[in-house]
Amino acid sequence: MSAIKLTIDGQEIEVAPGTTILEAARQLGIDIPTFCQDPELPPNGACRICVVEVEKARALVASCVAPVGPDMVVYTESERVINARKNNLGLMLANHPLDCITCEKTGTCKLQDYCYQYGVATSEFEGEVKNLPYDDTNEFFYRDMNKCILCGICVGKCQLVVGAGAIDFTKRGFVTNVSAGFEDPIEESSCVFCGMCIDNCPVGALIPKYVTGKGRPWQTESVPSVCPYCSLGCNINLHVKDNEVIEVSPVKESPVNRGHLCVQGKFGWDFIHSGDRVTAPLVKSDGVFVEVSWEEALDYIVDNIKEVQTRYGADALMGLSSPKASNEDSYLFQKLIRSLGTNNVDSYSKHCHASSVNGMMDAFGNAATTNSIDEIAATDAVLVIGANPAETHPILDYRVREAARNGAKLIVAAPEMIGLVDVSTGYLPLKQGTELALLNAMANVIINEGLHDQAFIDNRTEGFDQLKKAVEKYTPEYVAGITGLDEQEILSAARAYASAEKAVILSDAAVSNKIGAADFVRALANLAMLTGNVGKESAGVYLPYGENNLQGMADMGALPNVATGYQHLGEEAVREKFSKAWGVKISDEPGMTAAEAFADGKNSRIKAMYIMGENPVACGGDQADLVQFLSNLDFLVVQDIFMTETASLADVILPASAFAEKLGTYTNTERRVQLNQPALEPPGEVYPDWAVLVELAEWFGFEWDYVGPEEVFDEIASLTPDYSGMSYRRLVEQGLQWPCPADDHPGTKYLHQNSFSRGKGLFAGVDYKPEALQMDEGHAAECCATGVHSCQCLSETLTRRSVISAFKKGCCV
Ligand code: SF4
Repeated sequence: MSAIKLTIDGQEIEVAPGTTILEAARQLGIDIPTFCQDPELPPNGACRICVVEVEKARALVASCVAPVGPDMVVYTESERVINARKNNLGLMLANHPLDCITCEKTGTCKLQDYCYQYGVATSEFEGEVKNLPYDDTNEFFYRDMNKCILCGICVGKCQLVVGAGAIDFTKRGFVTNVSAGFEDPIEESSCVFCGMCIDNCPVGALIPKYVTGKGRPWQTESVPSVCPYCSLGCNINLHVKDNEVIEVSPVKESPVNRGHLCVQGKFGWDFIHSGDRVTAPLVKSDGVFVEVSWEEALDYIVDNIKEVQTRYGADALMGLSSPKASNEDSYLFQKLIRSLGTNNVDSYSKHCHASSVNGMMDAFGNAATTNSIDEIAATDAVLVIGANPAETHPILDYRVREAARNGAKLIVAAPEMIGLVDVSTGYLPLKQGTELALLNAMANVIINEGLHDQAFIDNRTEGFDQLKKAVEKYTPEYVAGITGLDEQEILSAARAYASAEKAVILSDAAVSNKIGAADFVRALANLAMLTGNVGKESAGVYLPYGENNLQGMADMGALPNVATGYQHLGEEAVREKFSKAWGVKISDEPGMTAAEAFADGKNSRIKAMYIMGENPVACGGDQADLVQFLSNLDFLVVQDIFMTETASLADVILPASAFAEKLGTYTNTERRVQLNQPALEPPGEVYPDWAVLVELAEWFGFEWDYVGPEEVFDEIASLTPDYSGMSYRRLVEQGLQWPCPADDHPGTKYLHQNSFSRGKGLFAGVDYKPEALQMDEGHAAECCATGVHSCQCLSETLTRRSVISAFKKGCCV
């Protein structure tokens, strides 16, 4: 259809049919006031503040709902329009407490701004005013519904975007209100405390408790940062006053979270101001920790590690880095451990995800989630299996809901009714642990009904015949008996997934704690390759990690067998490259994994350990062996922000800096390397971790003369092909997704476009075993409500020091 030409405030414009007057005006840079309009929600014309005058129209029209028409002539600030807006504002003010002097929203309140803009100071309307109770019954925010202007944005976000459905309009007419069902307290509702209602409320009806009385918006500095919890790496602004974070808001323009957060990102940052931060180096003397100077602590560490290495050899030392550490910190950490002559560097958290990593590596040659977070919204079909993103990665849950709103078929295979079932087109309530059998059955149906992508299979993959043979016996009838599903349900799911132009599989890397998880991940990859749903936009396999920088930590070579960018240290050329760059000789002895070191217990060859930012002792399950192992070490150094259960076993504790206190980069699940800015001065004697590592390296005699983390990052880029086109200057806006091999490369939205990282994608015939995907013995039984997710690595070290512990327990960082 041809474009529509119209005139707004004397300016001509051509827009597509169906465009609203409001959208057309915005294209011209004309600002029309709105309260209830939100690009994510259907327009509802509720607030009427956006009215405009259209020539030849009798009444004013709400520009947010009125479509443009041919040769329309619109006035957005005519006298009629201004009077109508004044009238609307007056009506709102008549029923709105005028306590702007103390209202926390002053300065960011739309009602206040528009009243100022149109000169509305008081209301000429009189009558009954609302007198609703002030609701402070939950831990997170105050609700003063006397200030609510009934724009409905909170209701729309809660129901449509988040899917929580905690609030709705209640009653009618003058007494219309927004509340939880039966006007119950919000904490008794299905509220997930994501804060989306607060961040989008245009007035002061919803105010976070922590901000109250702490400062006005214009008194705070807004510092861009990255959420320190899950691997999605949502972009946040830290609002800081007097070296204290007083509020956190989502970054609306972020390609990662588009203005959305979950409870952890919105409310979970307060651990940084916890009273039990370690603020000075501590050395254990006669079983008691004593504060010492940095010089004494570093001296003590160097003497003891050297002594262990002299007595037992270089490989008696092991370092564990943390998925909470920045890329620069993990890079320097593994460089230091390797410079001390051993490849024994790993992370405790990583082994929670080891099976997923192995499964993806085998199939694709690369363990990373294949596509970007935002691509989910534009896919045609989503298969959610082995995951409950609302619990673990809520932004992914929001994107899946968006895909469903956009018309995608949504198949949810889960033993329990997870939230996404509400918007699914097919729910498969399979027996727990039978996921792999279902995937094989879907592959069986797809092959037998000729729904597979033969060209993709021929050109891009190998091992198809093996897969075909392996899934022969997994007929819908056979698998119905295993899973407890109907044959028809299996057939429908397979057909829905295979017939989509673009299809996404969403699971969770933390299924690795389950026996047979690597095979489960191989089966996911089989399905994607079988239908050509990998290597293209909005089609791929999502296996997000639990912790924020697990991807970056692995990218940085904090692993026993590889240096940065997975360059294998078994290859002499790689060892030589890093030896030359670092001025040390990299050992040709393969390193030990954390699991191997711990499994050997008191017979382990590891006699000294340096743990940076991990708390394995608190990771759930029976950790008695681990405690004994750590207690038996000749020497243990822990660098952490808290006196954790693990730190209490150490000989030396070095204070660490929290995410809000340091400059550095983090790499999220979509491989986006993001720059985190420091917002706070660290407390006491705390220094940024990169600076501590540099100082310690110099104490060991290495000449590390970095002036800051940017220089460290430049060194990473110079040694890591996938990062080589990155620099702080390029990362500052929205980060870059690796591979980014050149200064002018835009980064890579999705992987495996023309070839897989291993060349051809590899099908694997994987058999269902009845014990598969059952919880491994000794792992944390309390983790996650889905029954399919068990993440042993998460210790609640941060969340138990935060207000969110009131809401979110288990399966937390
Ligand atoms: Fe933070 Fe993950 Fe929640 Fe985003 S989804 S706010 S990264 S915990």
